[in-house]
Amino acid sequence: MRAAEIQNELTEVLVTEEQILAKLDEVAAQVALDYAGKNLLLVGVLKGAIMVMADFSRALPTVVPMDWMAVSSYGAGTKSSGVVQIRKDLDEDLHDRDVLIIEDIIDSGLTLSWLLENFESRGAKSVEVFALLRKPDAAKVQVDCKYVGFDIPNEFVVGYGLDYAERYRNLRDVAILAPHVYS
Ligand code: 5GP
Ligand code: MG
Ligand code: MG
Repeated sequence: MRAAEIQNELTEVLVTEEQILAKLDEVAAQVALDYAGKNLLLVGVLKGAIMVMADFSRALPTVVPMDWMAVSSYGAGTKSSGVVQIRKDLDEDLHDRDVLIIEDIIDSGLTLSWLLENFESRGAKSVEVFALLRKPDAAKVQVDCKYVGFDIPNEFVVGYGLDYAERYRNLRDVAILAPHVYS
């Protein structure tokens, strides 16, 4: 992906890779304290959380198990449908685990509130959330997100794992996608 090619597809860089990595160090230090002596399991929500999981897990000072779940609530568009589908289920048994869900972004919060309920019903001892990004609409639904990286404006963003139609995930920064790309 050449710079010139993507430049007119993005309007503004919201969070740089450098800012993200510094924040992940900060959150990892807090999580290490909060989960000392606990049965921590990181659960990444595919595919958007791949970069957060990769960098966050390596910022932790100890070896930690991780698992993945793939759900879909957006399809190819830019607005949540509210219908959550399991595309790939967990491999791990959640019984007595202290689960920390790793998410790229909370927008409507529909996906997360569904996941929280689902994981609790599987016998997890505790379920908390770390979302790298949070949009203002997330305040409208009751999702208890213990760790948040950055509050961002209500724009459709891509990069650092976040896609539009499977593109842009490998951008290092988080940027606003130009509306002409999707409208
Ligand atoms: P929610 O259920 O909270 O509305 O969002 C569910 C999922 O939609 C997020 O985990 C993320 O994968 C995707 N999503 C929400 N907002 C954005 C955005 O601004 N950009 C991209 N690329 N995906 C988003
Ligand atoms: Mg996600
Ligand atoms: Mg997506």
